[in-house]
Amino acid sequence: MAILDKFREECGVVAIYGHSEASTLAYLGLHALQHRGQESAGIAASNGSNIRVHKAMGLVHDIFTAPVLAGLPGALAIGHTRYSTTGDSALLNAQPIRVDCNKGMIAVAHNGNLVNASDIRARLEAEGSIFQTTSDTEVIVHLIAHSREQTLPDAIADALRRIDGAFSLVVISRDRIFAARDPRGFRPLSLGRIPASGTRVNDAIAFASESTAFDLLGATFERDVKPGELVVVGPEPGSPERAGFARSGVAVGIQSRFYAPAAPQSACIFEHVYFSRPDSVVFGRSVNQSRESLGRQLAREAPVDADIVVAVPDSGVPAAIGYADECGLPFGVGLIRSHYVGRTFIEPEQRVRDFGVKLKLNPVRSVLEGKRVVLIDDSIVRGTTSRKIVRMIRNAGAKEVHMRISCPPTISPCYYGVDTPSKRQLIAANKSVEEIRQFIGADSLAYVSLEGLKKACGEGEQTTYCTACYTGEYPTDFVAIDDIQPAIFENERITAD
Ligand code: SF4
Repeated sequence: MAILDKFREECGVVAIYGHSEASTLAYLGLHALQHRGQESAGIAASNGSNIRVHKAMGLVHDIFTAPVLAGLPGALAIGHTRYSTTGDSALLNAQPIRVDCNKGMIAVAHNGNLVNASDIRARLEAEGSIFQTTSDTEVIVHLIAHSREQTLPDAIADALRRIDGAFSLVVISRDRIFAARDPRGFRPLSLGRIPASGTRVNDAIAFASESTAFDLLGATFERDVKPGELVVVGPEPGSPERAGFARSGVAVGIQSRFYAPAAPQSACIFEHVYFSRPDSVVFGRSVNQSRESLGRQLAREAPVDADIVVAVPDSGVPAAIGYADECGLPFGVGLIRSHYVGRTFIEPEQRVRDFGVKLKLNPVRSVLEGKRVVLIDDSIVRGTTSRKIVRMIRNAGAKEVHMRISCPPTISPCYYGVDTPSKRQLIAANKSVEEIRQFIGADSLAYVSLEGLKKACGEGEQTTYCTACYTGEYPTDFVAIDDIQPAIFENERITAD
């Protein structure tokens, strides 16, 4: 059940090379990336002769117990945590996807969404390919297997040239790790290094969707994988371990190649608005810095006479701090979020109004009572949750509630790996700002402008951004909306309450 009305991030990936506890480190990396997908998780590990995979539905810490990790030996591992975007949500589509093909045994984990996957799949099926899953990631696996290139790196590069859309992916073979980003750089992927220590005489190499994972791994952030880049990490060429890599401590060779020419960059700006953790550096920029800047920008664009600034936790907090600081108002913790709500729960027989939101959020009456409140959130998707939260704040005694949103109105779905409802369910695609204000019951409502969003996220400094969900202008060729099935929010409608 979707309790808060948010876009959902689709996946997080991690990879480890050259560490005797690679699968345990992959587990820790996935733990740090759990916010990017809570539906299923998987790890594939290589001991040099075999790649073992374990994947299951559920949260990372429930799936990967000590015995499970003990069954994933080796010095190389990749991991994946998933919320479905294409394909259904069954275990069948969990990743990594492992195959034993003419290029050897490989496993692939992918963050993003391919916009031409159905076309490629139809062609491959017409040629006799048999797909095991409904995931677009399997298309990549088939393309690698079908490639006429002779070596695995060349076959991966060949496959990547044939796909279009958003992909940050990691691939494991028996003795190497591969990491790549699409030429437009939609999704983040960073490279880190775990310094040698003890009996491990060489550094280990790590990749992760967000740099926050490196903190838990004891890795130092080295750089982002560049858009259009394929990084290959393996035994140093000429190393006696070249054939049959099986342990840590082997000299590491890192090779970089660009499999496709540079394209205009379209990094997902919503990574900065909401998806990524504020303790991450994404696309070369601190997420927390972007969110605080968004709050400041919002305060400049939409000030209001008020007594206190309150965030919808957790993601609204940095923007609320920025807003409060910019306009000289106190920041107050007026809503408390419970972090222990699972995916399912038992609702009392006598229906409690706004039960789902109350389970997740509770107001702090002593902070809100008698106050004119500026309420900061990072987005309004359908408006149903915002309406409940505004009502909750009023019921706690607030005199006025002024809603401020740290992104522009969301008017279009995402085709690039973010789980979005259909356009008909996006309230801003169907109502004016004033109509939305009336719907959510706020005294005033304002969004940050598109220009303000770009400025706050440093547009043009380290990258340029995709803003298609706010503009309807997509950086790739148009894809029919029915191609990407919304996997959430089916049970609620804009008018539901
Ligand atoms: S459409 Fe929106 S959510 Fe999707 S990649 Fe672009 S900015 Fe990100």
